[in-house]
Amino acid sequence: MKCNAKIEKISNFYGRPIYYINKPIPLIGHIAFGIIDRGTNVLQVRPSTLCFHNCIFCSVDAGPNSKFRESEYIVNEEWLAEWVNDVANVKNEDIEVLIDGVGEPISHPKILKLISLIKKIKNVKTISIETHGGSLSLQLAKKLEEAGLNRINLSIDSINSENAKKLSGTEWYDVNKILKNASEILKETNIDIVLTPVVIPEINEKDMDLIIEWAKENHAGEKSNYPSGILIQKFEIHHFGRKPEKIKVWSWGKFYSWLKILQEKHNYRLIVKPEELGFKDSAKLEKPFHVNDIVKSTIIGNGWLKNEYLATDENCIRIISIISKEDLMIGSKVKTKIIRDKDNIFLGKLY
Ligand code: SF4
Repeated sequence: MKCNAKIEKISNFYGRPIYYINKPIPLIGHIAFGIIDRGTNVLQVRPSTLCFHNCIFCSVDAGPNSKFRESEYIVNEEWLAEWVNDVANVKNEDIEVLIDGVGEPISHPKILKLISLIKKIKNVKTISIETHGGSLSLQLAKKLEEAGLNRINLSIDSINSENAKKLSGTEWYDVNKILKNASEILKETNIDIVLTPVVIPEINEKDMDLIIEWAKENHAGEKSNYPSGILIQKFEIHHFGRKPEKIKVWSWGKFYSWLKILQEKHNYRLIVKPEELGFKDSAKLEKPFHVNDIVKSTIIGNGWLKNEYLATDENCIRIISIISKEDLMIGSKVKTKIIRDKDNIFLGKLY
């Protein structure tokens, strides 16, 4: 099978083009859009790279202030649901679909339709979505519930309104309003909410006390039968991510001993095992290419980051990101040497 894939520019986002990803572009192979299968019963589904927040610690350099991004992508919801169906068939057991991404998944213009299409897939038992909450409302949550959403992973990094604004990198971010909405969503819908703050040493470390108390008081995580309603994440430096000035990154040992102290102080579980959240190993998609393979590819558009191009193999089985400082013509045929293949996410260089 030969394929003739190309991406279509549909708009701009803070000076960057937004491209529409549709049939026959493969939806496995890229970190920024489509599907990521890490060999567990939780599939990551990424419909949009757009983000209207601007978090100062963003690990994926999203939002208006992005420095390294060249392009943004929105995926056609029907095409994405078809791919989810195919991967779910490989899993052949109950799975959770976690709608996440290198942006705000709620920014996808057809997010409700996407959820309702995924809900119809036979072995999808749970659908969850990640958000920083800037556009979350009770009204939207009711529509998300009707579409089939089960859980929101809400990234609240501070309950102090000034610190929350600073962390989100925006003046309009109103954490009190978001938490009021979250509390109503927990009471008035069947959607569960789990808080997923990132702890940044000395910047919001002390804010975690209030966030933990909020999770306790509002019974976060209980509808999912989780042992906790708050999953605190450790801040890490990423190659293309943002880093607040003058911060020291904790070691994992320091992070866990800090969590242990907080856990005892609040008499509330903060250290949980993946299996307590329902994670387990599951059939993994086969990789069609491996590191050092030479793959005949076609350039189909600009890459996500600077000095990158989007390409497909000649049968449109996978997307490959090609790193190149050379100007490459859209539609040109190239040979690509694969330099990364982990989890079916492919990076390559011209061969
Ligand atoms: S951390 Fe999340 S919400 Fe914040 S800018 Fe990055 S992608 Fe957007």
